[in-house]
Amino acid sequence: MSRSVLVTGGNRGIGLAIARALAADGDRVAITYRSGEPPADLLGVRCDVTDPASLDEALGTVTDRHGPVQVLVANAGITRDTLLATMSEDDFTAVLDANLTGTFRVTRRVVRGMVKARYGRVLAVSSVVGLQGAAGQTNYAAAKAGMVGFVRSLARELGSRGITANALAPGFVDTDMTAVLSDRQRTAALAGIPLGRAASATEIARVARFLVSEDAAYITGALVPVDGGMGMGH
Ligand code: NDP
Repeated sequence: MSRSVLVTGGNRGIGLAIARALAADGDRVAITYRSGEPPADLLGVRCDVTDPASLDEALGTVTDRHGPVQVLVANAGITRDTLLATMSEDDFTAVLDANLTGTFRVTRRVVRGMVKARYGRVLAVSSVVGLQGAAGQTNYAAAKAGMVGFVRSLARELGSRGITANALAPGFVDTDMTAVLSDRQRTAALAGIPLGRAASATEIARVARFLVSEDAAYITGALVPVDGGMGMGH
């Protein structure tokens, strides 16, 4: 079955790897991008998840081109790391807005179609940090933990309509987001990973692909770690 898929923040990093994995399976995949050129092999819709009007426009295009979204991967996210004592109100609210409220905005806009179709897959890209916490990331951890509560509530609201809602918790993944870390920060992060290395975006994508597949039809409300053992026990 070829499904209409939307991956927010699918122009690079983990989102792009997920988008390409699903496109390789034959799904009709759209991705959001904010600037520059989207990857030529996918339908790119310009969209900022913090801007409701741009989401409305993007979803209009996706629906016209691919039909109502059947699979949503809410992946767009940012960090603004700093210790709480030096964190501005804007550092906090911007991270909540992009990660958590952005997930709310896009999910709310696509679930009506899923309910009508009595089929849907919602996958939110959370983080190991959501439940484990990380010094310097009170904003990001709060947002990522919020995403877990969000999908679990959604799983309960919409399970009877054939819709699953899950969260993925990657650990340390080699993307632009982690490329900005200092060598010292990177070494410290790797020291806390039993597998002793970072993940590639492709390794995250393989699990995402499973969670939105028919093989995962009976998995909902789950927080699935893909973290090399980093968050064991959460
Ligand atoms: P990148 O920084 O490489 O990519 C982030 C993506 O999110 C980009 O496509 C970016 O678009 C998009 N994005 C950010 N803000 C917005 C916005 N307001 N509206 C629309 N799109 C936006 O990060 P990763 O690929 O590493 O991260 C993807 C997800 O995985 C994030 O949610 C992140 O928190 C999570 N994650 C990452 C981990 C890691 O180690 N890398 C670990 C755990 C979770 P643009 O190109 O326009 O900036």
